[in-house]
Amino acid sequence: MLVILLGAPGAGKGTQAEMIVERYKLTHISTGDILRASIKKETELGKQAKDYLDKGELVPDEVVVKIVEERLKEPDCQAGALLDGFPRTVEQAKSLEEVLEGMQRKIDYVIYIEVTEDELISRLTGRRICRDCGATYHLKFNPPQVRNVCDQCGGELYQREDDSMETVKQRIKVYREQTEPLIEYYRRKSLLHAVDGDQDINKVHQQLQEVLDNNSRSEGV
Ligand code: ADP
Ligand code: ADP
Ligand code: ZN
Repeated sequence: MLVILLGAPGAGKGTQAEMIVERYKLTHISTGDILRASIKKETELGKQAKDYLDKGELVPDEVVVKIVEERLKEPDCQAGALLDGFPRTVEQAKSLEEVLEGMQRKIDYVIYIEVTEDELISRLTGRRICRDCGATYHLKFNPPQVRNVCDQCGGELYQREDDSMETVKQRIKVYREQTEPLIEYYRRKSLLHAVDGDQDINKVHQQLQEVLDNNSRSEGV
């Protein structure tokens, strides 16, 4: 099974991804996580990507397409994968189709998590991430049991540099201009399932499960 999670920065893609990969035996592929790991390790890819992430701009399509293509070919993605944060442009979506065709695979579901802009801003500016395992928290909406300490591994929590107010606004703008057209793109292909992301984490999770358990129809014509 191949699932795409679509939604603005802060919509809750990463949070939901963590919750569903286990149940549906999917491998979580987050292009953002891969890029941040490369920046931390100072690899060639990391050096290429850093400026874009710092500014809240998108990394060039060909760079991310190559990352995803290589990742999808790894053995742990054969049974199923969940794409989180990719594709982010129509160009990326088209390239993904070519890659999948070459592998004789197809997209099963595109789940669009819809959240209002004010909510996105408070989610992103209050987000905290575990340095060690990458788990996601929120100061108010999903706080860890002990302040600044990861519930899962005891790691230290930090705030992403691009979660500052200024960069958040830029990222939402980039999303509106470059990523939002994908909603219509996938709706036309009858792959889109929209869920209301302006609810608490467990309610959103339930809706995702309903889609993936095949109880809901796509919105397409
Ligand atoms: P994305 O991967 O789409 O950028 P995240 O999953 O990282 O989004 O969520 C952004 C922030 O909002 C995190 O701090 C997360 O804990 C919090 N969050 C996620 N889903 C919800 C929700 N349904 N209600 C409130 N806060 C949420
Ligand atoms: P969020 O969902 O909170 O916006 P991500 O972790 O998905 O954050 O992405 C962080 C940054 O990584 C983006 O602002 C962008 O610079 C880069 N990035 C991630 N995925 C892509 C992609 N598919 N195409 C281009 N750039 C990407
Ligand atoms: Zn952790």
